[in-house]
Amino acid sequence: MNTNSVSVSDPRCEKCPFRNQKRVPSSGDIRKAKYILVGEAPGRNEVVKMEPFVGETGTLLQAFFDRVDLDLHGEDFYLMNALSCQVRRKPSIPQAVACCRQRVINEILEADPRQTTLVVMGKVARDTLFPKETGGILGSRGWRKLGKFNVYVMAHPSYYLYNPDEAPMLAKDVSRIKRGRLPQIGPFELTTDVPLGPSEFITVKLPPYAYDRDSTYRATILDTHEKLKWFIRELNEVPLSSRDLISFDLETDQVDF
Ligand code: SF4
Repeated sequence: MNTNSVSVSDPRCEKCPFRNQKRVPSSGDIRKAKYILVGEAPGRNEVVKMEPFVGETGTLLQAFFDRVDLDLHGEDFYLMNALSCQVRRKPSIPQAVACCRQRVINEILEADPRQTTLVVMGKVARDTLFPKETGGILGSRGWRKLGKFNVYVMAHPSYYLYNPDEAPMLAKDVSRIKRGRLPQIGPFELTTDVPLGPSEFITVKLPPYAYDRDSTYRATILDTHEKLKWFIRELNEVPLSSRDLISFDLETDQVDF
């Protein structure tokens, strides 16, 4: 049951560049849903079937949710897009996001934050619900709060259609969503404005006795405030019961205190 689909005459749509495109309503019963998935905008298949997440992306996502026994089109899910209408011109997306934001918020506010996890998929959805956040979507990945809702931000599943080697990251996202947000050892906060050095990423190969099946890890030098914020968000996700060791090295040789 869709309780808050947008009507053709909605005044919020008047300035939207996609107002003449097909509108795809959200699907599911938001008052009963345990998970609200917010995608980007309907694709070709969604427009034909008038339902979100029924194209290639939805199929990929279901394959990963199968691993944790969740049915994307079952009663636990409410599926919606940040933009209800099909995107025609990518440069017009920010304008459409501004027009559609209140519709997204109104829909979400019908859910019960005590029983519902909000899953924000992709940059368009993130820009809709966290308009002050900048940078790539991978830097936003992880848990946070929006009002009383627990929110998990992740890359849009279509990213993995083009980057299949990164699929372990999608598997991790899906298992985190199923597990739910755990108690934290934080909160840790970033309290410095000290200028940081140039960006650099390195990839390291860990020895085979490392604790994960996948022994290749990307190490990030946290030399910008955006990266530090991402790191702190990740750190805040570590469960109290975890026996993992977190180790990091703070270089201060170029910092003038
Ligand atoms: S994308 Fe949103 S704001 Fe734009 S026309 Fe569709 S429903 Fe209206």
